[in-house]
Amino acid sequence: MCGIVGAVAQRDVVDILVEGLRRLEYRGYDSAGVAVVNASGELTRLRRLGKVKELADAVAATPATGGTGIAHTRWATHGEPSERNAHPHLSSNITVVHNGIIENHSPLRDDLKAKGYVFTSDTDTEVIAHLVEEELKSAGSLLAAVQKTVKQLHGAYGTVLLDKTDPSRVVVARSGSPLVIGLGIGENFIASDQLALLPVTRRFIFLEEGDVAEITRHSVSIFDSNGNAVEREVHESNVSYDAGDKGQYRHFMLKEIYEQPHAINNTLEGRLSRDSVLDETFGNGAAELFKKVKHVQIVACGTSYHSGMVARYWLESLGGISCNVEIASEFRYRKSFVQPNSLLVSISQSGETADTLAALRLAKEAGYVGSLTICNVAGSSLVRESDLAFMTRAGAEIGVASTKAFITQLVGLAMLTLAIGKYNGLTDAQQRELTEALQSLPGKLEQTLALAPQIEALAEEFADKHHALFLGRGDQYPIAMEGALKLKEISYIHAEAYAAGELKHGPLALIDAQMPIIVVAPNNDLLEKLKSNVEEVRARGGILYVFADADARFQSDATMRVINVPHVADILAPIVYTLPLQLLSYYVAIIKGTDVDQPRNLAKSVTVE
Ligand code: GLU
Repeated sequence: MCGIVGAVAQRDVVDILVEGLRRLEYRGYDSAGVAVVNASGELTRLRRLGKVKELADAVAATPATGGTGIAHTRWATHGEPSERNAHPHLSSNITVVHNGIIENHSPLRDDLKAKGYVFTSDTDTEVIAHLVEEELKSAGSLLAAVQKTVKQLHGAYGTVLLDKTDPSRVVVARSGSPLVIGLGIGENFIASDQLALLPVTRRFIFLEEGDVAEITRHSVSIFDSNGNAVEREVHESNVSYDAGDKGQYRHFMLKEIYEQPHAINNTLEGRLSRDSVLDETFGNGAAELFKKVKHVQIVACGTSYHSGMVARYWLESLGGISCNVEIASEFRYRKSFVQPNSLLVSISQSGETADTLAALRLAKEAGYVGSLTICNVAGSSLVRESDLAFMTRAGAEIGVASTKAFITQLVGLAMLTLAIGKYNGLTDAQQRELTEALQSLPGKLEQTLALAPQIEALAEEFADKHHALFLGRGDQYPIAMEGALKLKEISYIHAEAYAAGELKHGPLALIDAQMPIIVVAPNNDLLEKLKSNVEEVRARGGILYVFADADARFQSDATMRVINVPHVADILAPIVYTLPLQLLSYYVAIIKGTDVDQPRNLAKSVTVE
């Protein structure tokens, strides 16, 4: 993860770099640093433990000027978060920032120490700085030294280097972590994400795997992994950075929860006819591909994995085809059987999730008929490398715990079910019914948001709890998992989710008055089964919090609090029932006083495996 920003310009770039880091803070926030070189080759480096704000304060208090610079916000993988481990790292004249993991850092470190290099941090990154210094002894240029260095590195990296004796250039290398070059007029930039550079340019070149590039004020030279000079396309970006302020909301997460009806309007816009999904929704050639598809393999991580699990219920019951869902970090390291005519579907908010991207790349060799990504970031690696892409259009999501990105993924997957289902027996009447249901979704979510005051009151009862269980059945089981994940992420309460029928096979042993049990209970075919599971909990003294359809006829009493959720069509229920669970986690986190938008130890765009 981590955010990288770099610049080669005539003007002073410190403020540009720090603003870039602020925009990338979602990628990591345990420490931050910046290094700038002025025209006389004087380097100033500032690093601070904590958030970008700490670095910004340090920059305001300490004069640092220079037209060439690199900056970094860190998500520690090797070495605790501390000022000495914060990037940039130095080796004599060489300065480096790095995103990712150097897996063979330990033998490299031993070799370098034997050659007399002194390490001042515990990071894997520092080996890059010393290796480049070592290679520079024989290589004719920083570019050549970096090209020789990257051949020795195993693992994933996006890295930017500068040599203070030549402030006219920076050299960058990409292998497994995203980097985008921003083209200015008489100045050029580099960053992990175009969001960082939108104040200075809208013209971008996305580096490809294995690329090494030299960037000066007036030129960009790119070389592929074989050292051949290559041209990469220039993209004009229309991405907007609209998340700069929280408006009336106390946290980005709350703002993003309330944005969900609007986000879904955007997701749906122009993609539905009165009674079906338009073929173009998934890109050119989607209809031809979907006609052939007989199996879907979904790969994703975290929250996106939960949306994939919901999609499996939909694709098998409505889409008329079989579907497997797997966590990308598992999928990529096992030999899996590829069913005939399988479509690989990857799901990721950022489109840069390292494990998901690796799974897609492996799948390309494995005989899938095609690949589709469900993604929120245009131009991201998953979008560029998949045959088809469905953009969720959730808008920038700043809260680290995903809300609107998840819900819009679900909408995309419901549309995929319709698009594939129409070639596999989904009748016109069913398509019309599902299309109408999707169109009613923003309104249903607005009604569900009105439950906020009731949920806020309920949250008080969780303040002293250390554990919680979430229960659901069928397509609500993944929603219970998502509810548990949200509570863990932002309130630090240990939470687990179970398919309710599984309780008697072990977890019932946990039930007592200290273990709140949260149940999601729409009025569907499984309601009676779920009610039996609820009674099993009550009989053992458990305290229940039930989010239920009014027609489900649950009654509040001393051991059960019932919150009535608006009645919705079956396909909408997983989407609508997510919302009260998001609000519950949010209000519990507020009571516990945690850092809601940037919970400890996490980062948003997980570009390390
Ligand atoms: N592995 C490096 C470190 O721990 C970089 C981590 C990052 O991507 O922020 O410093």
